[in-house]
Amino acid sequence: MKEALLTKAGIAGEPDAVVSRAGVWCRLSRDCLTSAGRTSEDQADYLRITLLNLVGAAAFIVWGLFLCLNLLGVVESSVGRLAINVTGLAVAVGVLSSLRMGAPVAVVSHVAHAFLFAFLMGLAILRADNPLTMTLPLIYPAMAFLMLDDVHRGIVGTLLMTAGLNVAIFSGLGPEPRDLLMAIDGALTVSVGMCFQAAVMALYVHHRKRVMTRLRAVSVQLSELACHDPLTGLYNRRTFIDVLERELSRRDRKARQLAFLLFDIDHFKAYNDRFGHPQGDELLKRIAGAAQGVFCRREDIVFRLGGEEFGVVFRTDDAAQAAAMADRLLATIEALDAAPAGPHDTITISAGLNLLDSESDIAANHVYRRADEALYQAKESGRARWVRAVG
Ligand code: GH3
Ligand code: MG
Ligand code: MG
Repeated sequence: MKEALLTKAGIAGEPDAVVSRAGVWCRLSRDCLTSAGRTSEDQADYLRITLLNLVGAAAFIVWGLFLCLNLLGVVESSVGRLAINVTGLAVAVGVLSSLRMGAPVAVVSHVAHAFLFAFLMGLAILRADNPLTMTLPLIYPAMAFLMLDDVHRGIVGTLLMTAGLNVAIFSGLGPEPRDLLMAIDGALTVSVGMCFQAAVMALYVHHRKRVMTRLRAVSVQLSELACHDPLTGLYNRRTFIDVLERELSRRDRKARQLAFLLFDIDHFKAYNDRFGHPQGDELLKRIAGAAQGVFCRREDIVFRLGGEEFGVVFRTDDAAQAAAMADRLLATIEALDAAPAGPHDTITISAGLNLLDSESDIAANHVYRRADEALYQAKESGRARWVRAVG
């Protein structure tokens, strides 16, 4: 059995297999605790999935064991006890298998929670002869909060359970109190114990939610920073390769032809030398805005690829439309009044346009290289123009 597991994990027979065995068991137990690919600790439901798996596995062992003992006649058996054991086993199997099949965690946790509620309440009432069973519901608040992952529902559940137990105590359903003082003592012990735990768990759940919200916000901010150029706010080169690869791999028959336009500001160094770097930065921002104004469809994406080099990935009906877009961009940038004070020699760009065949398997780097060669030709042949890439 162990060997089969080791073979399955792919390490049997390796020289360091003994050392790796601990790792295998860790991996196996981790796999047992996670379900349907939901394995990441930063997933909101991770804690609940782990808890449900643990509770499900424990319940499976306990109910299964009692059912066997009942059936074998080792412990006293009755229809009622058999029914309880079979129900417990069915719920445990249901929880484990539905999690594994990818059922919504919220549904599974609600079903498991309803069973836990009914079981603890029923246990306290039906086994009234044993006062110990009355203290078992004290585990309820912690389980309710963790399973439901909701402060309000956890508090309502705890209050209901507390009220139910108090009714049981005072109505004589629970362990029979010898006098009123004993009943009050029992009721207070249960109520205070449950409320204290409820408060601790509510604080924990509330705190964890706040931490998770903050972490998620920071993670969104970080990925925004990693994908964008801080000066212009455009997507950066890192994102460019990902986007281009994604677009190149899109095999959508209805998708229009993919185009890539690479452009570079002409004589930008001279502009910087004349007006200063901050003014150069301003121009970069204005050109970014102008490009976004021209390429403003939902599927058009403008990038800042380097210093004064930009790129646009867009879709076009045909070559003529792509050419018209390139013309429009050049004209829009030439129309910018870019000097700090008064009109200045016009700002121009040179560009390379690469139109792609949607069926061809072409690499993103190749697409960029072809457009760059065309851009170089545009520079060579006098700037302020665009050239279409070949091949
Ligand atoms: P060409 O027409 O051949 O493209 O000439 P150019 O002067 O535009 O090109 P060159 O490569 O000689 O100079 C690019 C300049 O861009 C030099 C650099 O100072 C400037 N530059 C790069 N990044 C930034 C930036 O973030 N802000 C500013 N203000 N300038 C930048
Ligand atoms: Mg330049
Ligand atoms: Mg350049």
